[in-house]
Amino acid sequence: MTRRVALLITLFVPVAMAGFQAQNPDAQTRPGATSAGAPRAIRRDVPLTNAIRRAHDAGTRDMTGRPGKNYWQLQTDYAINARLDPPTQTITGNETITLHNNSPQPLAEVFLRLDHNIYRGLVPRGGSVPAENTEGMVITKISVNGEAVDLAAPAGGRGAGVARRLSVSGLDQTLARIALAAPVPARSTAKLEIAWRTKLPGGTNGRGHRMTQRFDEMLFQPTQWFPRVAKYDDLRGWDTNIYLGPAEFYNNFGRFDVRIDVPAGWIVSGTGVLQNPQEVLTARARERMAKVLESDAVITIVGPDEVGPGQSTAAGDRLVWHFMAEMVNDFAWATAKNFVWRATRATIPGKGAVPIHMVHLPERANLFANAGPITRHALEFYSKLWAPYPFPQLTLQDGPSAGMEYPMVINSNQGAADHETGHQWWPMMVGNNETWYGWMDEGFNEYMNILSEADERKAPPNLDGLGQSYGRISGDESEPPMMWNANNAGSMYSFQTYGKTPLMLSMLGGIVGDAEVQRAMSTYTKVWAFKHPSPWDYIFLMNQELKQDLGWFWYYWLWTTESVDGSIANVATSGARTTVTVRQAGQMPSPVVLKVQFAATGPAVKPMANAKMVNDTTAIVTWPVDVWFNGSRTFEAALDFGGRAITTITLDPSCRFPDRDPGDNVWPKPAGGAPTGPRASACGG
Ligand SMILES: [Zn+2]
Repeated sequence: MTRRVALLITLFVPVAMAGFQAQNPDAQTRPGATSAGAPRAIRRDVPLTNAIRRAHDAGTRDMTGRPGKNYWQLQTDYAINARLDPPTQTITGNETITLHNNSPQPLAEVFLRLDHNIYRGLVPRGGSVPAENTEGMVITKISVNGEAVDLAAPAGGRGAGVARRLSVSGLDQTLARIALAAPVPARSTAKLEIAWRTKLPGGTNGRGHRMTQRFDEMLFQPTQWFPRVAKYDDLRGWDTNIYLGPAEFYNNFGRFDVRIDVPAGWIVSGTGVLQNPQEVLTARARERMAKVLESDAVITIVGPDEVGPGQSTAAGDRLVWHFMAEMVNDFAWATAKNFVWRATRATIPGKGAVPIHMVHLPERANLFANAGPITRHALEFYSKLWAPYPFPQLTLQDGPSAGMEYPMVINSNQGAADHETGHQWWPMMVGNNETWYGWMDEGFNEYMNILSEADERKAPPNLDGLGQSYGRISGDESEPPMMWNANNAGSMYSFQTYGKTPLMLSMLGGIVGDAEVQRAMSTYTKVWAFKHPSPWDYIFLMNQELKQDLGWFWYYWLWTTESVDGSIANVATSGARTTVTVRQAGQMPSPVVLKVQFAATGPAVKPMANAKMVNDTTAIVTWPVDVWFNGSRTFEAALDFGGRAITTITLDPSCRFPDRDPGDNVWPKPAGGAPTGPRASACGG
């Protein structure tokens, strides 16, 4: 979803980002700023939890960061029939789920996600409360391999000696458990048949709320609307995190075959490819559709004056729209009595043109005026950045939710189109666990949005300043580390999940170069496409791709809330040699990067092995992070450029390393007292 929406949900204003973090420019009196000789313990590897150790032992994952030789994942294939009745605002559905247990373990139980039970009002909910309570997702039938579950019977016990009996518990919660009489053997399949109904919540206060699923009785935007099998993986077995609202999902991949029965005249959009246009569209709409891939023009498929059976759709009383999607991790759709349907194309490298569909209410056309070109740019840019867009189409759906993502579907107008399109890479293509590790989903997305926005302006992206700015936030007690389960992230959920990752990747770019970061992440995208990477897989793969052990970097960014807090403590010149005493008051180390500016005239500037000349009078000199590994908090950086007078020295000139007070990064200190605090950033931060 969008950060704007996340902010509304958590009612969170990041205190430090708002700029009223207490400033204490005096490094000598800050906690952690101990005397120059005191050692600093620097951790150089990342913690391995029991979950990742087990996976390494089992060979499902390993230290290369690529899927291990024994890697497996479940597959769940859905065949769904759903009927929408606008007068009751209710979907009645039945589904057959083919559960492929590709794991080496038998499954004695199956967990179901019943997200619509969040509308019951009596289940735990996050900081966002839907505008209407309903009776939730009412399950009317469950059978497993043809055997019906008695929905009225109490659930079977789990203890030793208790006879196994097919039963279910938790049907009124967002997570239900089916206990199986006979486990699903390893590497076999089971068939679940489920029937249910769910009323789509509306509510007058919820017209712009992402968990509202309709405008009155004329537009429906169903999401998370059918019972889903929860994720079962090699790290933790069943994912039993309950659905609270803000953190979204972690789903199995599989095939969807979905038939949606609505009144004739109602246009249906959704995940997948429409299989029966000859049955549900007019001949006129089909002719217009045939032209969509021919140019970048935005073509009207169904106009605002074409409404009702025989006009907006084929004639009849009710129509069944049939969609199919291969290898997706969810299915979302929308329908309205008077949708305007427009379409254009994006050209995907190595693949060709794919359609971009837009369905919106006629009176909201202005919100979609630029949606086609924005979405085209996003699809084409992110395809080049990471990996080609893998799906056969993308659809923007109008409705109360205007910042949410599903496979091939974004509930978005032009406002969030770039960001929501970004989600097609994560979690729709790279199936990360966003309920635990929101940063691998929303965080990566925020980073790529910066690059996309610059590309759209035809300007080089500027990531300077971002890494440094984290220094103003570090130390806030309400900040959870990024590895902390995002569902439990508290008041700084939005910063942890959305905001911090671009700052981390800005620093990484300051070490290896931004292009290298992006190249490595492109490999990560391709290696883990349609699989489920853990943070450790990402970390180890990045280390391999960047050809250095960045354990220290990942440890401080992902497991702690520490910063670098660098400063220039002293500068002394003796003959041709200048010694710069660099100090790091924080726990996170960084390479030492100095910008050295020389007088216009004097002895020739002699090259230094670790220096790059930017121009005749400016050099960038770099020492690797290793200089800190002996535990000292100070480093004497020796400059010997042959005696040309040095006029200015700036530490971390690209502002990539977290620093509470960039004002002490410059020598000599400006006359009249050094400016301190964020405003003193060399990058205008
Ligand atoms: Zn998002």
